[in-house]
Amino acid sequence: MANHEEVFKKVISHAKEYGYIFQSSEIYDGLSAVYDYGQNGAELKKNIREYWWQAMVQLNDNIVGIDAAIFMHPTTWKASGHVDAFNDPMIDNKDSKKRYRADVLVEDYVAKIEAKIDKEVTKAAKRFGDAFDKAQFVSTNPRVVGYQEKADGILKRLGKSLENEDLADVKALIEELEIACPLSGSKNWTDVKQFNLMFGTKLGSTAESAMDLYLRPETAQGIFVNFLNVQKTGRMKIPFGIAQTGKAFRNEIVARQFIFRMREFEQMEMQYFIKPGSQKEWYETWKEKRMKWHLSLGMGPENYRFHDHEKLAHYADAACDIEFKFPFGFKELEGIHSRTDFDLGNHEEYSGKKLQYFDPEENKSYVPYVLETSIGLDRMFLAIFSNALQEEQLENNTTRTVLKLPAVLAPTKAAVLPLLKRDGLPEVAQKLVDDLKWDFNIAYDEKDAVGRRYRRQDAVGTPICVTVDHQTLEDQTVTIRHRDTMEQQRVKMDEVKDIIAKEVEMKEWLKRI
Ligand code: ATP
Repeated sequence: MANHEEVFKKVISHAKEYGYIFQSSEIYDGLSAVYDYGQNGAELKKNIREYWWQAMVQLNDNIVGIDAAIFMHPTTWKASGHVDAFNDPMIDNKDSKKRYRADVLVEDYVAKIEAKIDKEVTKAAKRFGDAFDKAQFVSTNPRVVGYQEKADGILKRLGKSLENEDLADVKALIEELEIACPLSGSKNWTDVKQFNLMFGTKLGSTAESAMDLYLRPETAQGIFVNFLNVQKTGRMKIPFGIAQTGKAFRNEIVARQFIFRMREFEQMEMQYFIKPGSQKEWYETWKEKRMKWHLSLGMGPENYRFHDHEKLAHYADAACDIEFKFPFGFKELEGIHSRTDFDLGNHEEYSGKKLQYFDPEENKSYVPYVLETSIGLDRMFLAIFSNALQEEQLENNTTRTVLKLPAVLAPTKAAVLPLLKRDGLPEVAQKLVDDLKWDFNIAYDEKDAVGRRYRRQDAVGTPICVTVDHQTLEDQTVTIRHRDTMEQQRVKMDEVKDIIAKEVEMKEWLKRI
């Protein structure tokens, strides 16, 4: 496929055309950065959530799951630091009136420098052939070294200015780099200001008694405030984890890139409570565990990388992202954060309640440290969906659009197709559906030529098609066709269930972790 933008447009239109994702309130011209999941999207999303939940909760005997409310006592957000520090630096272009995140403008500039480095590397790799040593080239080629120094210098300065809250310097940096508004092309910028990302609302019926609340900007705090409840009632021993999936809300300044950055989204988070001092070890362990989870889905190791944070958030003593290669480049998919005792310590202070654990081995109480893994469900959806969508050149000079979703996550596991709409074939096919539907989501389709029906199932991502034809009436066999290879095999009808199960069952996939 052509350039990145075209690929991404194709992803968005395919998601709509096949019932995966719709713009929210579309008949009223939509709501910016809010999306609805359609009939197939809801299934895919549910399967991703389940794949995460089983890997986290079901397969770890020291991790349990909860479901906390979206509304929380407002002091929660003071203790967590969100009231004071959950800000993004924003800047407006005076000509286009468009608002941007100041740090993202600078990061996009740096990404362009990095793209230049990539270009030099690709060129050199071609020139030198097998003898090419990338590491050596990158560290010695004067042009590349120059680019890298420039990129590093810019990011370092940005990190420092943000850490020191020196917003004037962020603006100065934008001006020095001569960054122009992508829309108006002008460099006519306002000052950089902080913008709090939490959505406020009110609880209560009368104006006087109403209480100011926030919609939670992350699910993690619901876990922290329940730390003791779960520890005591579950008689949990450190180390142990609490997992949760649920909605979070952020009034993002620039909510572009489809479901990559939404104002209402879903997170899958796990907080692992550990002994103070053991955080380095657990940080490495969870980095490795989470990467293995991703790789088990078979989307290719070349599409993932770790990215260490330059600027640590106010709560962290180590942090990194797992980045995924989206159609618009490598971007954060999941965060792994060593949060020390920041959260529990602050909740102790603000609530006046002890949030400590008595360690029988050490014979003393302490506030546990926390290791967090936090992934956006919608972002994971986008990673999977955009990676799966492929345009394939076939031997007979035609192309097919195929959505190669990991079979374990596909909304529909198999489609049953009678070759013709007569001769008793639909009845046999329907009977097969009635048998299979107890175990899997099954589609039935009898319209159009079977070739077209295969293409339809390819495009919607169904891993297996089962075709019932005249021979079925004689010997109880059917044709199984696999989405990815398009290979067909003749099998006994009573083997179909096992064949599908082998390909789609969650436990088979989870075993690869
Ligand atoms: P970003 O830097 O992209 O804004 P973040 O570092 O603020 O993300 P975290 O607070 O660490 O994100 O949240 C954990 C995960 O939640 C992210 O890795 C991402 O997958 C997801 N996430 C965060 N914000 C959004 C959003 N606005 N829309 C969709 N997913 C999001």
